[in-house]
Amino acid sequence: MTPHHANALRRALESGGFAVTVEFVVPEAREPFETAIAPALELAQAMKGEPRCHALAIGDRIRSDHDHDPIAVAERVAEAGGTAPLVHLAGKDRSAAAVRASLERLLALGLENVLLITGDKVKAPPGDRPVGHVDAVHAIQEAKALSPDFLVAAAVCPFKYREEECLNQYLKMVKKWRVGADCFITQIGFDMRKLKELIAYARARGLEVPLLANVLALTAGRGRYIREHAMPGITIPDELQALVEAEAQDPAKGAARALERLALQALLDRVEGLEAAIPTEAAWAEAWQASLTRPDGTLVPTAPPDGFYLDGGPPAQGVRASVGAYAKYLALDGLDRLLFQEGSPGARLFAPLARRLPDGSRLARAVHGFERLSKEPLGCQSCGVCRLPHTFYVCPETCPKGLANGPCGGTRENTCEFGDRECIHTLTYRLAKRAHALKALEAVVIPAVPAERRGTCSWIHHFRGQDPPVVRLVGPRRGDPTGPPDPEASSAS
Ligand code: SF4
Repeated sequence: MTPHHANALRRALESGGFAVTVEFVVPEAREPFETAIAPALELAQAMKGEPRCHALAIGDRIRSDHDHDPIAVAERVAEAGGTAPLVHLAGKDRSAAAVRASLERLLALGLENVLLITGDKVKAPPGDRPVGHVDAVHAIQEAKALSPDFLVAAAVCPFKYREEECLNQYLKMVKKWRVGADCFITQIGFDMRKLKELIAYARARGLEVPLLANVLALTAGRGRYIREHAMPGITIPDELQALVEAEAQDPAKGAARALERLALQALLDRVEGLEAAIPTEAAWAEAWQASLTRPDGTLVPTAPPDGFYLDGGPPAQGVRASVGAYAKYLALDGLDRLLFQEGSPGARLFAPLARRLPDGSRLARAVHGFERLSKEPLGCQSCGVCRLPHTFYVCPETCPKGLANGPCGGTRENTCEFGDRECIHTLTYRLAKRAHALKALEAVVIPAVPAERRGTCSWIHHFRGQDPPVVRLVGPRRGDPTGPPDPEASSAS
């Protein structure tokens, strides 16, 4: 890739310095393009003379399902500011081919900074077709395969308050790192203990990559909007909202407090003016607490009560799969070893038959019919590529986004972002933990289902050796001499 623009963000990250991006939420496509991007161009020009800001981040499909194309916006922003922006690209309602085409466009435009996310749920799902999500893990793999020059940022949400969802975030972060993520950006959050936990976990697991906190000047109006729209992954407890509502009674004071918290959240002690006042971490902690203290002297919580923390917070937790769930997993695993795994008695018998079976023949249709008959009562949706042996027999098709490589950032206390079920990866985590196999959750890249395979017989494809490959990330990542230590040592016992 030939970068067409200076890349202040890459320079800041590579120097190990402090990097700041400012996010532009792209307007809906119904607004005329030039009007929609005018504020972004203005911001890009203003940032030209501001060495403390390194890139304008261009959001993707945040406001609606039909926002303007972030790459078209990024191209104009780069021209206006002369610096490469950070382009967000969500897998939401996109095919793998569409994500690849977007990455190729970025390459052609010399735009090398990209944040690859799975994306939140579609706000108004179309009734006439299924909605797919490209997993960020696959998008990162794709970007790095297209060009190692991409500076790939990935997302992680540490603001999770149950063991399963919290560790799942961290295990998926390691997987994203193993496939090539160059830095991580958190979800918005106000719980500084969680941010510290994330830093400690990443360092303990050997991830020497930059971590960027996503910060927001929390005003009463913004808090209300986030809570009313249940924005995925953002936690604003009632008490914190009540505090900013009280501060909003005096608009000038409220705005000042929001900005003060923003600066502290971002650890902007390196910013002029705060440097002298907050020289140490202890002083910072004191200032942060003061910013959350009510007039009566009590402290406002920034997290739900009894939340899970890896540093041993209350209560002592140690979740694992129930006896029944684990027994089901063991039974299915036994069946897989007997019938489906390479070299098993079943594979030795069926593989030669499957290879000789003509596509569309009466016998092929009968085998498919038998597969459906035996698996559909268990919830099988005939996706055509059975990935159960790699997901602890929890079907990824039962995730509304179809994610197989770990959860999105939308869980709330283990409940799915869609609100109608437990996140399927919660059960996977509990099974993996009971099987002492947590490493698989960060080291096995499970393929997506190719669109053309849906509705076909997974057994025939499997025995013919036509399944898309499962990648086991063994050995060190480039530049990492040892690879991460075992995750069992870093999970809750
Ligand atoms: S099941 Fe989990 S990963 Fe899937 S959409 Fe729900 S919260 Fe996200």
